[in-house]
Amino acid sequence: MKKLLFPLLFLSLKLCAQDAAKIHQKAILIDTHNDVLSNELITKFDLGKRQTEGDFDLVRAKEGGLDAQIFSIWCGENYGKGTAFAFANREIDSLYALIKRYPDKITLVHNSAELKKAVDQKKLAALIGVEGGHMIEDRMDYIDSLAKRGMNYLTLTWNNSTSWATSARDEVTKKDSLKFLGLTDYGKQIVKHLNQLGVMVDVSHVGERTFYDVLATTTKPVIASHSCAWSIDPSRRNMKDYQLKALAKNGGVICLNFYSGFVDSTYSPKVAVFLHQHRAELDSLTKIYNDGDLANIRLNAMYKAESDKIRPPLSLLIHHIDYIVKLIGVDHVGIGSDFDGAESYPLGLDSVSDYPKITEELLKLNYTEKDIDKILGGNVMRVLKANTGK
Ligand SMILES: [Zn+2]
Repeated sequence: MKKLLFPLLFLSLKLCAQDAAKIHQKAILIDTHNDVLSNELITKFDLGKRQTEGDFDLVRAKEGGLDAQIFSIWCGENYGKGTAFAFANREIDSLYALIKRYPDKITLVHNSAELKKAVDQKKLAALIGVEGGHMIEDRMDYIDSLAKRGMNYLTLTWNNSTSWATSARDEVTKKDSLKFLGLTDYGKQIVKHLNQLGVMVDVSHVGERTFYDVLATTTKPVIASHSCAWSIDPSRRNMKDYQLKALAKNGGVICLNFYSGFVDSTYSPKVAVFLHQHRAELDSLTKIYNDGDLANIRLNAMYKAESDKIRPPLSLLIHHIDYIVKLIGVDHVGIGSDFDGAESYPLGLDSVSDYPKITEELLKLNYTEKDIDKILGGNVMRVLKANTGK
């Protein structure tokens, strides 16, 4: 009996992997947050070809079974009136350029019907998420213009508050000095305008007060494009249990961020030690890239063996998914990797080619094919359709 056990175990693991691959390929996988367009490395790379640096290219996206990507349009808080909107448009230009260069591999879509058509044509469906309300420069006509160019969601704030919405960072760190909390009347008008245009409201990065003001204002389900569960990792970018319950009531979806710092509460102190040990190099990289986050990404790539040691296990990310499913049901969870926007992800998740590992892990937890379909993209598709009307 004992002799038989090992081959049988091996056979069942193999079958499980085959099932996972089949289920993964069949499902429509939508990732709601990727920062490749904001990553300076993009200027050096041809994303139509396989790259060894960075997390995203069209070849690895295909291998990972990625069907639709919402590309993040982002600039930091040093951009503002007179510069931020123009910067956003330049990033949209680079997405358009990629699509023009590879029309047989990637296409811009505006709604769930077009997304499905792109999947049938075996092209990656490209969508646009504008990450940070500062890019509209307080102007409704700029919202209209971005929507015309394909904006599918607006993240109301990035880490910085706008003149009409307070961010998670500011609500936590500057609470006493803020002139207002949550959404102003103008902020509420913006939410209503986004609803009318069919642009999803993204509540990742916003403060709790803004979150509740949004839910009291919106007539459509919202999206949290790249956040995790606060109960597992109490980062201010993650969502508390009662926020998750409110999100479910709204019919919305939270898409899980893969960033190690939002997955694992023990990551931040560990990365602080790592950065301290490489302070001088980090400082010089920051000068080269003119951006601390990009410098951090490069530093982690340079010292891969060292940085690998502090990455959380993939099972912890899966635990976030499972926790949220158990709390609010399987209809409100999705995938929002933040690939190319962070320096570290759980072990095994190195690029867009690694999404199938998530399906494998969910199958191990006895998730059904139907549930996996919802998590990989079905739920986001529902919210997209509810917003765009088709
Ligand atoms: Zn972000």
